Amino acid sequence: MRVKTIDSKELKASPVFGQLSFDNHEQIVFCNDEDTGLKAIIGIHNTTLGPALGGTRMWQYNSEWEALNDVLRLSRGMTFKSAITGVNLGGGKAVIIGDAKTQKNDKLMRRFGEFVHSLSGKYITAEDVGMATHDMDVIKEVTPHVVGVSESLGGSGNPSPLTGYGVYMGMKAATKYKFGTDSLEGKKVLVQGVGNVGEAVVKHITEEGGHVIINDINEERLEELSKKYGAKIVLGSDIYGLDIDIYSPCALGATVNDKTIAQLKAKVIAGSANNQLEDEVKHGQMLREKGIAYAPDFLINAGGIINVYAELVGYTKEESKKRAENIYNTTLDIFNLSEKEDITTHKAAFNIAQNIIDTRKRENK
Ligand code: NAD
Repeated sequence: MRVKTIDSKELKASPVFGQLSFDNHEQIVFCNDEDTGLKAIIGIHNTTLGPALGGTRMWQYNSEWEALNDVLRLSRGMTFKSAITGVNLGGGKAVIIGDAKTQKNDKLMRRFGEFVHSLSGKYITAEDVGMATHDMDVIKEVTPHVVGVSESLGGSGNPSPLTGYGVYMGMKAATKYKFGTDSLEGKKVLVQGVGNVGEAVVKHITEEGGHVIINDINEERLEELSKKYGAKIVLGSDIYGLDIDIYSPCALGATVNDKTIAQLKAKVIAGSANNQLEDEVKHGQMLREKGIAYAPDFLINAGGIINVYAELVGYTKEESKKRAENIYNTTLDIFNLSEKEDITTHKAAFNIAQNIIDTRKRENK
């Protein structure tokens, strides 16, 4: 989904409910604290399946409107991710406006935790971009409504390895659908963004004998991973026309768009980034027409939500791994459904998630 620039007439008419990314969200909470300088927005999209769970992102947004759009978009995505993953959670997310490197401190995080606490468990927070396990530990001091805390405090720790494992499973299923075998041996895979999740993805592909090409804006990180896994480095942003079999976006959203689809030689897209399609409908359809098998992001990057859900319901690590492994079967089902119903894979996954929510809504009445 794109972040729309809103003209002033529209802003005056409907500052929140008129946003393009507004999709019947239940509650939007604006948090302000003068003493710590905290400016945050908590978005609760839908709580039909359970309390709204989603990470907190700290980012230097260009404007408060951009932050609002981001939290609307991300919290909506969490609703469908949780539904299709089969966890009893709703969709929520939070954004803190600011630079995590220079403006984040324990006092600010504690104050943010108090705002989370004021919602009495309707929203449960976790890590997202700009956050670390330590920040969740600090939030835990003031509210029980936080997951992703340190294992030493009874939490599930860093969710990224399980997210990476789920992405790898989704990638194998998409490969099976497209190439007839799920083996990644000999496949040329471009991993864009080799942070926490990207590294896990690189590791699994390498162990299976795939040829990994890595791209990142952080050259030090590229050197480190190239040494560790023998991956080939490609610098810069001119990467979409590379001769590859699989493109794995593990950095930012909206990298699949008019411009990049025209250049892509890959036959499979499977990565961890949220909101990979700039426009879900249009670009989902363009990929379909070009014969590129797209594994829906909110389906295959659900390892993180599985990991933190374990903290709430007490799954063992083995159970969580089994659930992440099942992303393989669900992804294959989605490809088959998309073919049977002649719809995009994104739509096929979305329809299943929506159906789960609608059924529960009827049952709850
Ligand atoms: P991270 O911050 O550890 O890694 C992101 C990497 O992307 C960094 O190395 C960064 O330098 C690189 N990057 C940023 N902009 C780039 C660009 N323009 N081109 C190339 N590289 C660029 O984040 P992460 O936790 O690994 O998450 C990666 C993606 O997966 C994010 O979009 C995140 O929202 C999504 N995701 C993560 C989890 C999880 O469990 N961590 C779960 C679900 C979804």
